[in-house]
Amino acid sequence: MADAPRPLIAGNWKMNGLCETGRALTQAVVKRWRAADRGKVDLLLCPPATLLGMVGEALKGSGILLGAQDCHSEKPGAHTGDIAAVMLADIGCRFVVLGHSERRQAHRETDALVRAKVRAAHTAGLTVILCVGESAAERQAGRAEAIVGAQLDGSLPDGASDKNTVIAYEPVWAIGSGKTPAADDIRAMHAWIRARLGKRFGGADALRILYGGSVTSKNAPDILPMPEVNGALVGGASLDAEEFCRIASCG
Ligand code: PEP
Repeated sequence: MADAPRPLIAGNWKMNGLCETGRALTQAVVKRWRAADRGKVDLLLCPPATLLGMVGEALKGSGILLGAQDCHSEKPGAHTGDIAAVMLADIGCRFVVLGHSERRQAHRETDALVRAKVRAAHTAGLTVILCVGESAAERQAGRAEAIVGAQLDGSLPDGASDKNTVIAYEPVWAIGSGKTPAADDIRAMHAWIRARLGKRFGGADALRILYGGSVTSKNAPDILPMPEVNGALVGGASLDAEEFCRIASCG
């Protein structure tokens, strides 16, 4: 059995942050992170696209990683308003979040589109954080595994592996709601995802599977030490440097 993967704590700022607030938040995270025991987890900030350059500069030398929240599926070209994966790599991103439920819903992103984006990101050398998760109705109907399984099958292209892909299990009903699944349900879904991708990847012991959905410093001590959980994708709580670093300290 391989060593457990190093936990990853990723902050998804969503559509938040202006130059001044984004700089202040980044500087506050860097300051706290320098003082913390940084040996245990990887820390990642995913600001909005407008702040990637500035945040990347502010992170230099800190050991904190930079990621984006989306990319286009095609190479650079005639796609007004979009951002190609290679552009993200060029500005210093190592990661990109893809298939977030807010994009699957608001932008009607299908598994096929997400798969094309994942392929583009991998080609650009980015590690993808692929988000999957069921709605409340789907869980109540006993379809959580079927939904997550279909998202994994449909959104991961050939060539996806534990080296270029991280999975974020984010039940849609837990995002921004203050609700979290029961501990046993988190454990069971993470183990199920690992087993399923283990078959596809030829082993998934090294795959990082993050939990996402209303993670705070209050529930992180219960969620992050679970052996099935390899970190967290944190939305709202990542906008507060102290709270975000407290969560990271539980990883
Ligand atoms: C997210 O945006 O991926 C997320 C998990 O948000 P929150 O932590 O606010 O629920």
